[in-house]
Amino acid sequence: MYYTEYETEPRDKRMKRKWKGVKEVLLAAERASGEFQARLRDLGACARDFKDWDDYARIPPLRRRDIVKWQQEHGIGWFLAARSGELSRIYRSPGPIYAPEGRGPDYWAWSEGFFAAGFRPGDLAQMTFSYHMAPAGLMFEEPLRDIGCAVIPAGPDNTEKQIEFLAELPVNAFVGMASHLKAIGEKARAMGLDPLEDFHLEKAYVAAEPLPESLRAEVEEMFGISVRQGYGTADVGCIAYECRELGGMHLSNYRHVEICDPVTGLPVPDGEVGEVVVTPFFTDYPLVRLATGDLSSMDLSRCACGRTARKLSGWKGRADDMV
Ligand SMILES: [Zn+2]
Repeated sequence: MYYTEYETEPRDKRMKRKWKGVKEVLLAAERASGEFQARLRDLGACARDFKDWDDYARIPPLRRRDIVKWQQEHGIGWFLAARSGELSRIYRSPGPIYAPEGRGPDYWAWSEGFFAAGFRPGDLAQMTFSYHMAPAGLMFEEPLRDIGCAVIPAGPDNTEKQIEFLAELPVNAFVGMASHLKAIGEKARAMGLDPLEDFHLEKAYVAAEPLPESLRAEVEEMFGISVRQGYGTADVGCIAYECRELGGMHLSNYRHVEICDPVTGLPVPDGEVGEVVVTPFFTDYPLVRLATGDLSSMDLSRCACGRTARKLSGWKGRADDMV
């Protein structure tokens, strides 16, 4: 089962659709983003000069540290193609960096990832990401509501309260960090509870930290659940997500993702390790080729789940360590 038809579309159709998304971002950025206008001036180019993916890959990536610096120098409006009041929310993440959220449906694009992880209408999910200032709590809650799940906005603190919710309510899904879920299970055991018998969890969606297979196995066994992870950032939301088959993370259908040389910013050959560079199809906060600082590689093999999107073969460190 799939959440949308995009998940199984042929690659050429997908790339045409993504090119349309990228072109809209380019035009919005050229029209309104002082940051992108500066990059175009450096290239001596205009948005219409970029005719294909090879042209697109010549645009130098945008670095997060530069966003931090330029937000302080120019204000957030310098990056926006909408007025601040036309956005949905503005978050602040460590950096410090402001992360605007526009008003489009499934803005952070996590819905397909949750669905691939087995989240379904009628699930009751305990949300343990923070709802305060940074985007994670709301970013991960909205797709759950989109799918038709109910959500307990538990936030990240107070392990004993988390255990109370799990024991007293029919919570069958957990959303948060795998290390946090492990700590909850350990505390529950110390309190004389058995996470297998006393809780009703069936699945967990985890993100925001590397997930070693040993940790996944430990948490799955502790609660008798399946654990699937999503990969993304506070600026762009979902970049890739796991399906039931594991073995990497399918690329989001709503972002253009490249694996690039961290020094030149140019794409590396398929299968080689490089920096994840992502373009979300945001037209109110256009981010053209945002360098994430994370290393991964592209896996072109066909997945048994039937999704046709390529996979990132896991998180392989930070680009700073490669340069
Ligand atoms: Zn798959």
